[in-house]
Amino acid sequence: MQIVPLSAFSDNYIWAIVADGLCVVVDPGDAAPVERFLAERHLTLDAILITHHHGDHTGGIAALSARHHPKVFGPATEAIAGLTDTLTDGATQSLLNGALSLSVMAVPGHTAGHIAYLSPGALFCGDTLFSAGCGRLFEGTPAQMHASLGRFAALPDDTRVYCAHEYTQSNLRFALAVEPGNPDIVAYSGQCDALRAQARPTIPTTIGVERRINPFLRCDQADVRRMAEAVSGETLEDAGAVFAALRRWKNEFR
Ligand SMILES: [Zn+2]
Repeated sequence: MQIVPLSAFSDNYIWAIVADGLCVVVDPGDAAPVERFLAERHLTLDAILITHHHGDHTGGIAALSARHHPKVFGPATEAIAGLTDTLTDGATQSLLNGALSLSVMAVPGHTAGHIAYLSPGALFCGDTLFSAGCGRLFEGTPAQMHASLGRFAALPDDTRVYCAHEYTQSNLRFALAVEPGNPDIVAYSGQCDALRAQARPTIPTTIGVERRINPFLRCDQADVRRMAEAVSGETLEDAGAVFAALRRWKNEFR
């Protein structure tokens, strides 16, 4: 099985999962890059996986469905045109002639019904977790997002994280503002700058890397808490309060 990033718009990744001449795509916001990939590789579109309702993740469903008639999976609690199968937390699904087995995680926060797809060793998390960052809270509460990220953080360190945007470098500028003394963030920033200088993706990342460098997975660290308290001017009682303060700070960070 091979997992390939297809670039869309300015910074989206549509993930293509390939085995046996079949292809599954995750969050095709645009049909055109998917059509090019299928044609180049002579692949059959087996299924589409949708994580949440935003247009830059769903915009290609209609055109791809009209031409290829794949199954289209997505969250049960969001209104998304063109889904053939809706999924809730704990659902399982086998695709690509059994080469891809998925379980569904409900991860509210960025949107209220956002889901992620976990296969052994690989997490397709849409706009919930990014490398060195997390999604904005358009519909959910800080407590919901903190809990959703906590479920990801509990996955094995070597789980590869396939998120939907290349936001890593700007996220790392914020991560360094939160933890200027964290050598892992400095080293990782150097690696990511080198990749981007060659126009290569910084994604996938891994849960283990994110636990070391992503401030939103490090709300229980004393240094992160102290900085969040200094910036917010508040006493932050627990990791959930630290998360909420970091997310507010990040919204205004330039
Ligand atoms: Zn989104």
